[in-house]
Amino acid sequence: MQFADIIGQEAVKSYLLKNARQDSVSHAQLFLGAEGSGNLALALAYAQYLNCTNKQPADSCGRCNSCQMSLKLAHPDIHFSYPTVTVGSKGKKSTDYMAEWRQAVLQNPYMNVFEWLQFIKAENKQGNITAEECDEIVRKLNLTSFQGAYKILIIWMPEYLGKEGNKLLKVIEEPPAGTLFLLVAENADALLATILSRTQLLRIPPLNPPDIAVNLHNRFQLPHQAARQIAAQCNGNYNAALRLMSNANVNNRQLLTGWLNACLQNNVPQFAQFTEEIAETGREIQKNFIGYCLHFFHECLRLSMLPNYEALLEKDEIQTANRFLQSLNYNSLEELVQAFEKADEHIARNANPKIVFFNLSIRLADTGQGKISFT
Ligand SMILES: [Zn+2]
Repeated sequence: MQFADIIGQEAVKSYLLKNARQDSVSHAQLFLGAEGSGNLALALAYAQYLNCTNKQPADSCGRCNSCQMSLKLAHPDIHFSYPTVTVGSKGKKSTDYMAEWRQAVLQNPYMNVFEWLQFIKAENKQGNITAEECDEIVRKLNLTSFQGAYKILIIWMPEYLGKEGNKLLKVIEEPPAGTLFLLVAENADALLATILSRTQLLRIPPLNPPDIAVNLHNRFQLPHQAARQIAAQCNGNYNAALRLMSNANVNNRQLLTGWLNACLQNNVPQFAQFTEEIAETGREIQKNFIGYCLHFFHECLRLSMLPNYEALLEKDEIQTANRFLQSLNYNSLEELVQAFEKADEHIARNANPKIVFFNLSIRLADTGQGKISFT
């Protein structure tokens, strides 16, 4: 992966390039960033850059032998450790899933650990980085490098190391010459304190919405307005943006208008039917829909507060929003936002979707008190 392939994160890229140029490369770095920030992509581009034999000022060359191998995640001196599940004799070591790893990362370097575990068919098994894998890391790093360049170990989601991680302390603290550790994590609180204290922290911020919007437009030919809308909904998480795109078949806009109609006119049979229907879809679709509703309500809040505000909404959505705003004040809108945020948490924690959506329907009906008509 080259830096040029990574969305946004210009400050982090410059920092990494500067360190590489000044030869002040830390031997153990923690790339800490939330899902979809590009933390793994940045570690991949950095590893490729460090081992490129024809470095350009702002990127690896992408063509030398070393780059060619790095691009395929097949460089003999760039190793990977990541959570796996053990099935029979398979899965104690990360390399048992090397083919799957290459395929999954090349497909989407912004993936999350849940998607990865689904990809290797972990089903409901808990992934982890095993004691055997830690022994393997120590063994690999004591081999001499093949290409005479940096020997790099990228540990993705070291949160899954558990206590076994303590086996790595010595090698992280006093690594063999020319060895680098790049730990790619999302949650510092879930890391072993002993490992955390031995790494140099590099914080990767969430992406800027405009960077995501430009990418969605260029990569998927999404119209500008739709791209901006998804970018505004995904909290700087590119992986969430991809999920929002793939769920585009569910027409959230129509769904919300129909639901609001039923609730705000207190049409109980109709919103009960909506509840039944949405409860039958999957959790991702439900979360996606709630995410859309929150986006819509937030835009309504801004429209009610800011004169001349240019809402991130399509024309028909703005009409719905204006009708909605005729009878709602700022406080009741804010309460709705809170109720939807709670519902989002409940769905994420596997609450019964029928109850969650029915409660929201009643909430909406109370808010409208039968006053608002959409027809
Ligand atoms: Zn190169």
